[in-house]
Amino acid sequence: MILFSRKIKCLNCGKNYKAKRERGKISYVCGNYDNYGKCKREVIKQQFLIDLLQRRYGEDFEISKDNIQEIVESVEIKNKDTFTINLQNDTPIIFGDNFIQY
Ligand SMILES: [Zn+2]
Repeated sequence: MILFSRKIKCLNCGKNYKAKRERGKISYVCGNYDNYGKCKREVIKQQFLIDLLQRRYGEDFEISKDNIQEIVESVEIKNKDTFTINLQNDTPIIFGDNFIQY
């Protein structure tokens, strides 16, 4: 199931990431890259974003589209190793080169 629709933004070009389904697994890639061959190919696995949310909120965190759409304000992606998950009423989850804030 696509959980992060319209939440993921590319910091390189400002466009939204779009979901891709491969062998049942969802990944996200910049729409500008996927549609027009512009921007960069940076692939983010949906499961990785879920893992980070569960690390913050625990294994009991409900993985549903409603819940994620409500709790996640935006995901800002510079590249697959450098991104920020902005959360409603909570400090962001920051994933960086030499720094991770869970
Ligand atoms: Zn882009």
